[in-house]
Amino acid sequence: MTGRVRLGRATLTRAVELRAQVRTSLFGQTPADAWPDNAELLEPLFWDRGADEWKIAIQTWVIQVDGLTVLVDTGAGNDRDRPHMPPLHRLSTGYLAELAAAGVRPEDVDVVINTHLHTDHVGWNTRRSGDVGAGGWVPTFPNARYLMPELDYRYFAPDAPGASEGMRIVFEDSVLPVAGQMELFSGDYQLSESLWLRPAPGHTPGSTVVWVDAGEPAVFVGDLTHCPIQIPRPDDPCAFDVDGVAAAVTRKRVFTEASRRRAAVIPAHYPGPGGATIVARGDAFMVDDWLDLPPI
Ligand SMILES: [Zn+2]
Repeated sequence: MTGRVRLGRATLTRAVELRAQVRTSLFGQTPADAWPDNAELLEPLFWDRGADEWKIAIQTWVIQVDGLTVLVDTGAGNDRDRPHMPPLHRLSTGYLAELAAAGVRPEDVDVVINTHLHTDHVGWNTRRSGDVGAGGWVPTFPNARYLMPELDYRYFAPDAPGASEGMRIVFEDSVLPVAGQMELFSGDYQLSESLWLRPAPGHTPGSTVVWVDAGEPAVFVGDLTHCPIQIPRPDDPCAFDVDGVAAAVTRKRVFTEASRRRAAVIPAHYPGPGGATIVARGDAFMVDDWLDLPPI
């Protein structure tokens, strides 16, 4: 399902790759009571009370602004060996059809931004190719620049501190095949008049948020937050965070900035309407207004 919303002169669309439910215990510091206490916020789109699971979408955000078509994150990808992550092993989803339904052909994409280099954010960087000379994988978006955070590249590369057998495979099928179109960035990076990238370390060392302001601001925060329970409880880490303490500091900083600017916060994995403007309330935050997208 796709929908479209305008943010000033920018247009925002989503392409949903898949949806899943994950046990709430992955929020290890969130007390069990906090889920029912926030039922009004979480039910039914973000939390399944009966199963004690939170709901996640893997999706790409498509921004069209300044004459550019920009993808924020590229999902998990088809056909990949993911022995370290069985739910993403050898997927066969209709992601490219979802993108087409959002009005995007692969050759139209000007910029791909990987907010970080986890497997569920880089997958459709590439697609399988019958051309053995290409190593089996070719860039999905032939005309795109692929922007990746240098700190994550250094951290997860096969000879680096965050390396693992799983990440070695991710690099091989989803990162290295786009080397000819890849640009590693660090620090603040202005991409166009209305788009810029800012460091947001914690979930991973190089995690990055993407700001857009073409008259109505928004910030694409990647995995800065996985579930809206972290809006009223911004200190709560998720087990996927490389450094949960740093992630919480960054989450509160970005949430504060977004609330001051009245910018929509748009995470990688929220189902429902996908994101919301938020307001500060003491040390916590609350949803002001959800994005006007059809909820999933
Ligand atoms: Zn993720």
